[in-house]
Parts: sequence; structure tokens; C-alpha cells
Amino acid sequence: MVEITLLHSQLVKERQRITDELADIKRARGENDQREGNPFGKREEDATEIFEFEKKLAIESQVSNNLAMIEHALKKYDAGTYGLCDNCGKPIEPARLEALPCASLCLSCKAKQKKNV
Ligand SMILES: [Zn+2]
Repeated sequence: MVEITLLHSQLVKERQRITDELADIKRARGENDQREGNPFGKREEDATEIFEFEKKLAIESQVSNNLAMIEHALKKYDAGTYGLCDNCGKPIEPARLEALPCASLCLSCKAKQKKNV
């Protein structure tokens, strides 16, 4: 049996960690934006900087996604629907929740979703 309160405290901790991480990323990006405002940067450096910038953007969107998933799971916890699949309403497999406390779909719905994309 999965300890839902334990998963909940994991989610709260994870949300704090990710919020901090996102703030760090945004701060780092703010510094980058300022440098990009300089039109006299060397060309060969630009390519690396753009690559770094895009890499940061990709990480940022991934981190924001994670945060959204966690907040969604916490909302479900408050609503008393935590651990139930968003799609079919059946309980999500306990092992899946333990591995991924912010999971909002059961395995079979997740598999279907992947096929549709
Ligand atoms: Zn489902």
C-alpha cells in the first residue's frame, strides 16, 4: 500500500526544489539577455551563446512542465482525487505513483496518449 501522505510531502519538497531551480534559471537567463543586447559580440562566440541559450530555454521549459505536473498533483490531493487517473478515473498503479508521485494518468491511459501524439 502506498503512503499517500508520504508522496504528498515528497511533492511539496519537490515543488520547493523546482521553484528554486526555476528562479536560478530565470536569473541566469536575465544575465544572458543583457549580454545579447550587445550588437558587437564576436561572431564565433555568438553560435555558442545561442546554443547555450537554447539549451537553457529547453531546460527551463522542462522544469516548468515538471512544476506544473507537481502543482496539478497537489491540487488533486487537496480535491481528494490524488492517485486517480485524470482520464479514466481509475486508481493509478501504486508502483507508478511511487516512482512518479506527480503522475496524473494510469499506465494504460499514458500508453494511449503516447500513441495519439
Ligand atoms: Zn486511466
